[in-house]
Amino acid sequence: MCGITGYIGNRNATPILLKGLKRLEYRGYDSSGIAILDTDRIKYLKKAGKIKELQALISKTSIYGSIGIAHTRWATHGSPNDSNSHPHLNESGTIALVHNGIIENYEAIKETLIRKGVIFQSETDTEVLVHLISAIYYEDKKLSFEDAVRAALQEVVGAYGIVALCKDEPENLVAARMGSPLVLGVGENEYFLASDASPIVGYTRNVIYLDDGEIVSLTKNTHNISTLKSKEILTKTLTEIDLTIDEIEKGEFPHFMLKEIHDQTHSITNTMRGRLNFQDGTTNLGGISEFIPSLINASRIYITACGTSWHAGLIGKHLIETYAQVPVHVEYASEFRYRKAIIDSDTILIAISQSGETADTLAAIKKAKELGALTLGICNVVGSSIARETDGGIYTHAGPEIGVASTKAFTSQVTVLTMLALMLGRKIEVAKNKGQNLISSLSELNKDVEEILKNQKKIKEVAKFTKDVNHYIYLGRGINFPVALEGALKLKEISYIHAEGYPAAEMKHGPIALIDENMPVVVLAPMDNTFSKILANIQEVKARKGIIITITDTKNSELEKLSDFILYVPPTHQHVFPITSSVILQLLAYEIAVLKNCEIDQPRNLAKSVTVE
Ligand code: GLU
Repeated sequence: MCGITGYIGNRNATPILLKGLKRLEYRGYDSSGIAILDTDRIKYLKKAGKIKELQALISKTSIYGSIGIAHTRWATHGSPNDSNSHPHLNESGTIALVHNGIIENYEAIKETLIRKGVIFQSETDTEVLVHLISAIYYEDKKLSFEDAVRAALQEVVGAYGIVALCKDEPENLVAARMGSPLVLGVGENEYFLASDASPIVGYTRNVIYLDDGEIVSLTKNTHNISTLKSKEILTKTLTEIDLTIDEIEKGEFPHFMLKEIHDQTHSITNTMRGRLNFQDGTTNLGGISEFIPSLINASRIYITACGTSWHAGLIGKHLIETYAQVPVHVEYASEFRYRKAIIDSDTILIAISQSGETADTLAAIKKAKELGALTLGICNVVGSSIARETDGGIYTHAGPEIGVASTKAFTSQVTVLTMLALMLGRKIEVAKNKGQNLISSLSELNKDVEEILKNQKKIKEVAKFTKDVNHYIYLGRGINFPVALEGALKLKEISYIHAEGYPAAEMKHGPIALIDENMPVVVLAPMDNTFSKILANIQEVKARKGIIITITDTKNSELEKLSDFILYVPPTHQHVFPITSSVILQLLAYEIAVLKNCEIDQPRNLAKSVTVE
């Protein structure tokens, strides 16, 4: 995780870097730091805690210069204290570096450096890099700083996005990447570097996405991109940023999470824009159209993802197997990558990731590719590593998601999977009118979400009633079981209440032992073929005095009688209910977290895109 940024040009780098860090804060927020090349020396400040701590420190000092780097950290090696914060400097303070990733062989490098007499200041893996670069640079006077960085990186195993500067080459900023994202913003006589485009958007719309194994050397007027290994000079094309400032700011909302929950009145529509074909009862997904025959004839599809995206994958399995009748296995990327999965050339891997940078998911894609599978991606961030690594894919177009707890990206992922399942189904035996029914309900989603948002008062009541409990259970059947998992995850992430999702009928095989008058049980109860079964499950909870919070799209007197709280979504297609009910679950988690005074957009120990294993 971590966010890194850099600037070289004619302006004062400090405010630019600080603003950039604020935009990247979702990536990590346990400590931060900045280093600026100030006339004849590198000045740096670093501080444990949120970026506002660093800001306070900066306001008390003068740190001024037109070249600088900065970092917001999510610690992997060493606790989040001042000395482990980045930037890290060499012993003479002439080289400074920020890093996103993990140096896997850092212990071996550290031992060698210690033997040479280097004294380390931190417990991080990162610090070895700066000492290694320094040793190479000052040992061989003929090497440029860029070449010293290049040489050091040859010795490194692991993942990195780095930006480094050196007092002895005061006109120069060097950056490189392997496994962690890095974007270069190209301005007029100035350049910006960042983990994503959000710090760059206010200054220029022209960016270059660096690829793995590339290094860039910048002066304020020139950029030279080359391969790390062979020094081959690369000419890369400029891409226009597709972000607007509004999209990455909170506006009138108190939290990004609430803004993003509200965004779902249009983000889901954006996901479907130009992709629904009501007349033929099907969908068009341009990014994968050439792979339709392979998908239909696949021996199996693996869906791989982490966290919330994995839940979307489980819903996708249900839909693809229902509509397209292709066997689908859903697996955590972190598990998939280290086991012997059954993959051949008829296997297709679909990787889902909001950021498109999730380290385990990327590794799973690489493994599947090596074994001959076709790989497809479902990502939100255009131009992300997963988007570029896969053979084809579908963007979710949900707009930037900054709140750490995923909301709109999830509903857009599910929307994409629904469209994919329908498109494949229509190629085989799913009837046109069935497709049209589903499309009609999908088209109503913006209105449905608007309706749900009007009902926040009722959700707040549930939040008030349950905010002090220690545990929560979520139950769903079939396609709604993953919705239960996702509801439980949202609550855990932002309110720190322990929560579990279960298939409703599985409750009898264990979790029912937990139910008493202090246990809220959220039940997903749409009017589908499991409705009578779910009523029976509710009875079972009721008999043990659990607090029943029902989410349904159907008025039903028995349901009303049994439920302590009942939250309605507009009546919809059974395959669209996972989307509408998820919005309620997001709001419920949000309202509970508000009442508990939790750090909603930056929950403890978490970060947005998990770019480390
Ligand atoms: N491994 C580095 C550290 O712990 C960077 C962390 C990261 O990118 O997540 O400081």
